[in-house]
Amino acid sequence: MEDNRKRPPLPELYIIPAGDYFGTTDDQVRILYAPLSGSMLLATGEDIRNAEKYISGEEIDDTSRDFFVPLTGNKTPEDFFGKVKTARDLQKMSVLPNHTCNFSCSYCYSAKGRANVVLEKEKLKTGLDFFIDPERTRHRSLTLSFIGGGEPLLSWNLVRWGIEYAYERAERQDFTLGITLITNGSIMNSEIIDVLKRYGVLPDVSFDILEDVQNSQRGHFSKVCDTIDVLCRNGLPPSVNATITPATVDRMEEMLAFMIDRFPKVTNIVLEPVVSPELFPATADMKDFYGRYLENFMKIRRDAEAGGRFVMCRIYKNIDSILDRGCPSKFALTPQGDVSICYCTSSPKEKHYAKRIYGTVGTAGVDIDDLKFAEIHGINVHSMPKCTDCFAKWHCGGGCMCPNDLYSEPYLDEICLFTRELVKRVLLDRMERQSMENDGKSLKELI
Ligand code: SF4
Ligand code: SF4
Ligand code: SF4
Repeated sequence: MEDNRKRPPLPELYIIPAGDYFGTTDDQVRILYAPLSGSMLLATGEDIRNAEKYISGEEIDDTSRDFFVPLTGNKTPEDFFGKVKTARDLQKMSVLPNHTCNFSCSYCYSAKGRANVVLEKEKLKTGLDFFIDPERTRHRSLTLSFIGGGEPLLSWNLVRWGIEYAYERAERQDFTLGITLITNGSIMNSEIIDVLKRYGVLPDVSFDILEDVQNSQRGHFSKVCDTIDVLCRNGLPPSVNATITPATVDRMEEMLAFMIDRFPKVTNIVLEPVVSPELFPATADMKDFYGRYLENFMKIRRDAEAGGRFVMCRIYKNIDSILDRGCPSKFALTPQGDVSICYCTSSPKEKHYAKRIYGTVGTAGVDIDDLKFAEIHGINVHSMPKCTDCFAKWHCGGGCMCPNDLYSEPYLDEICLFTRELVKRVLLDRMERQSMENDGKSLKELI
């Protein structure tokens, strides 16, 4: 009989060069990372060579194989993925009520889509009836976001109706429904506050934090501060989302300090790198930007955590998940009544609109193009050859569709470098903490 103690099942293993962290060469120190069991080890010398053999499928002796035991788990990637095969399995709905905005942000991803179009209430009702339906999905937990496109609160009556209708329908049908509202912070009043409170809607304010930055990139600093204040006073501290550009990448520390001082009740701060080909004339500009972003992000994340705040970005958040898509496919209802897989593509005036639309909502029902859905949903980590051996693959999922659409390959390569470096730095950070807790020594002292 086989001795399972000595021959554990092989983990899915990645080797991450880490020489730079230890002031040596990459062949001297590597991280062995098993994302499916969430475990990692530092390896040197013979253990690196054994790991290389092990990954390439060569035989290694039992003693060498024991080194990998702490990395072993019994999960496969499929155990983690959502079971989305068709649009009928989707758990996330986004509603884009209009294409109108009262801001004109310098980096607006939807600026080309501006139009005087507002989603018809009947289409919203049909979309919600489809989405919140026990006949459609057996999942009992759904999320619904009101988001732009434009500024959702410019269509408040429609948003209010949608929140009330969705909430009541979910309750009747025995679903748990989490509702979020993403706003530019320009509109807030007691009626909106009452509805948000009554239905447990989580507000999320897009805000570039520093007065000169907000006023130059988005405008309306004082108004947005007033909105965040009134939300906090009413027990609805919002998440704050800032877009980091080359002009602000070295001011992230200042941003965090401002948030802690000015809005002590806000605990969630998302600092997402801008997606804008115009801001990066050459790949070297993008490399420089992402390099500085990474250093500043890692620094302020630690400071934030010490002060009870969470500083996030999409990739960082995903390091604790196993994903095969950069972002879950959505049932995103556009103001025209079309269904998009990604809420950032919502207007026929946008170049990639036709590529992202897989259905339409009429007053009579929802028409889904299943083949088109399967095709777009299938653009993921499995479909991109470059992702096959990437150690960040299960946290990146092949990236977000927005940069993937807008940037050329050499630029996307820079984003891949950044993604891998961020994952590696977070893993090293976690190992450092563990080392200090267990041995009272830093990794550099131990290696
Ligand atoms: S608030 Fe949002 S939708 Fe409006 S211009 Fe700014 S980024 Fe675009
Ligand atoms: S970092 Fe690049 S290569 Fe790696 S999974 Fe993401 S998109 Fe694919
Ligand atoms: S794919 Fe990217 S752009 Fe689209 S909704 Fe997801 S995170 Fe946003």
